[in-house]
Amino acid sequence: MDELLLPEPFSGGLILSYKCNSHCRHCMYACSPRFKGDWISERDAERILVQLADKVRESPLGPDKIGVNYGLHFTGGEPFLNFDLLLKVTEMARGLRIPSTFVETNSFWCINDDVTRDKLTELRDAGLHGILVSVNPFLLEYVPFERTERAVRIGGEVFGENVIVYQTFFYHQFKRLGFRGSLLFDEYLRTAGIEGLSYVELLPMGRACYRLGDLYRKYPAERFFGESCRAELTRPWHIHIDNYGNYIAGYCGGISLGDARDLSSLRKVDLSDKPVLRALVTDLRRLYELGVEEFGYKERKAGYISKCHLCVDVRRHIAQQTDMFKELSPREFYLHLDGE
Ligand code: SF4
Ligand code: SF4
Repeated sequence: MDELLLPEPFSGGLILSYKCNSHCRHCMYACSPRFKGDWISERDAERILVQLADKVRESPLGPDKIGVNYGLHFTGGEPFLNFDLLLKVTEMARGLRIPSTFVETNSFWCINDDVTRDKLTELRDAGLHGILVSVNPFLLEYVPFERTERAVRIGGEVFGENVIVYQTFFYHQFKRLGFRGSLLFDEYLRTAGIEGLSYVELLPMGRACYRLGDLYRKYPAERFFGESCRAELTRPWHIHIDNYGNYIAGYCGGISLGDARDLSSLRKVDLSDKPVLRALVTDLRRLYELGVEEFGYKERKAGYISKCHLCVDVRRHIAQQTDMFKELSPREFYLHLDGE
């Protein structure tokens, strides 16, 4: 089995940069202020958008409406750190008639009503269809809640119903508790309790494996042997393409299926020169064995919260020792996971 057949993607996000003003504990892509400030070039963005244009599916409600798993979103890192680029890629998407476009933001830049309204109006006038506003206690450590509220309120004025609040549970919880300013996570837990976290989707992958491990039960590596990630790695919805051109399946940060600047080359991914990827589509045990036998990986005594924890921990260990695996990309992802 030396080829992986990838279906054409029909929804996803363009990661403009991994640079972010925040360093959230749960970040799947290990974004951070410490990440190199590389931004996608206009040339690469255009090459990618041109190829996505006839593949991206509109929301079931129409091309001018948005949905998390439809259309195309601009994301990061934090896209508003480079507003000019965000505007430029929005214009490109409009020129290519890409449906259901939205930007994902942590709202740090919503410092007052005028700035917020001006930027969102400019984006709407450039062709953007909507906005997704992130709300959760990890982000609250960095972004004052009133900025989030402002993004939601003015987002509604500018984009109407095309505002996704992710996640609404936290938005209402923070409002109910009268939060103002930012809040450390420990303080959040003392005030709101831990129960709320069990109501929402919290993906145990990326940095969360290291920074939120205490919230989860842990298991030995063996528990995840026999599992393959073929389904996750070949899903055609909510894929990501980063500023280096890496094609990233779903939420599997740090794993590149290849160069999305040549999307047609990815219909069949050659696995013969990508042993890590080949192991992942076969059996997680293979990745573990590769780590142990060739790179001296040692099982974590404390265990793993999920298969993604095992996966990212072995990959991180390998990436620290060699750059021979081109599928472990971008390499900087592995520097910002906060693993010990
Ligand atoms: S989760 Fe979002 S806001 Fe937080 S570090 Fe990652 S990209 Fe930035
Ligand atoms: S185990 Fe690895 S490849 Fe599989 S879904 Fe998790 S991060 Fe992706």
